[in-house]
This record gives sequence, C-alpha cells and structure tokens, in this order.
Amino acid sequence: MPTFLDWTRGGGAGESAPCVICGKPAICRSPGGKPVHKVCAEAWTEQRNARKAVA
Ligand SMILES: [Zn+2]
Repeated sequence: MPTFLDWTRGGGAGESAPCVICGKPAICRSPGGKPVHKVCAEAWTEQRNARKAVA
C-alpha cells in the first residue's frame, strides 16, 4: 500500500543539501529537520513498514 507522508506540519524547506537517502540535492526538510526528498522518505517509510510487518 503506498505511503504518503503529511509534512504540512513539521516539515519544511531550506537550503539545498544532500538528501540523507539518495544523496542528491534536496530543499525539503523532514519534520526532524533532515534534508530529504519527500518521495525518498515515503519509499523509505514504506520499506520500513513492510519489514516491520514481516518481523
Ligand atoms: Zn532523495
């Protein structure tokens, strides 16, 4: 099931910095303040949830 994160609160934007997942420049910020593309975070969250379901 596709994961869609809601970053309307907490998330934001800032200077271009390497995405913590793919390493390409990202201006998006996660709610935790890390530079990351929203699509990368969604894919990562999806994988993590899938792993959790197995374990
Ligand atoms: Zn990325």
